[in-house]
Amino acid sequence: EKLVVAVDGPSGSGKSSVSKEAARRLGARYLDTGAMYRAVTWHCLDAGTDLHDAGAVAAAVRVADLFISTDPDHEEVRIHGTDVTAEIREPFVSEAVSAVATNLEARAELARRQREIIEASGRIVAEGRDITTVVAPDADARILLTASEEARLRRRGLQLGGTQSAEDLQRQVVARDAKDATVTSFHEASDGVATVDSSDLDFEQTVQAVLAA
Ligand code: C5P
Repeated sequence: EKLVVAVDGPSGSGKSSVSKEAARRLGARYLDTGAMYRAVTWHCLDAGTDLHDAGAVAAAVRVADLFISTDPDHEEVRIHGTDVTAEIREPFVSEAVSAVATNLEARAELARRQREIIEASGRIVAEGRDITTVVAPDADARILLTASEEARLRRRGLQLGGTQSAEDLQRQVVARDAKDATVTSFHEASDGVATVDSSDLDFEQTVQAVLAA
């Protein structure tokens, strides 16, 4: 039976791990749309595309040969044949990704591809910043996963292995959210979107809250 679950949220809200687990329990595919933004960014950096040149970035997205696994148990992202699964998580990509995320033509093209993947998957949990509003506004369930800044910083710290100072982390997370907020207003749930605040929930409780939404 067809089922589309859309999950949006800021970085550190736990949306990736929670969405992945929700997908497993629903017997559904899983789409990490942020990985698509990251892969295109990686490619632009690799190819020497000027990230300040909006036309060049849009063109790079249009012709990008992009593959993303939708198996919740197998993470794999390839662009023009290169496996970038690990490298797209590196800080040099996170720091540059807003050049793609703020490019409206790039967003339109990625959203189009995301809709194709969702359509082809049948059952899927898709996760990002604009899934509940732009990519899949007709999803069966739409969830905005939020968390207090404190909780998000705490999780980011854990994710990065505790090697960075708290101040560095705070600076990075706040800066990326501010950039993201210029194109996606994920801090406020739009009509019909259920908000799940994970600040005081553990992982299992958050998964349950998403599945109940
Ligand atoms: O989710 P993740 O942190 O991997 O996303 C990386 C970046 O991609 C975000 O900071 C945001 O700029 C962008 N993004 C977006 N729209 C999405 C998913 C990600 O703009 N649907």
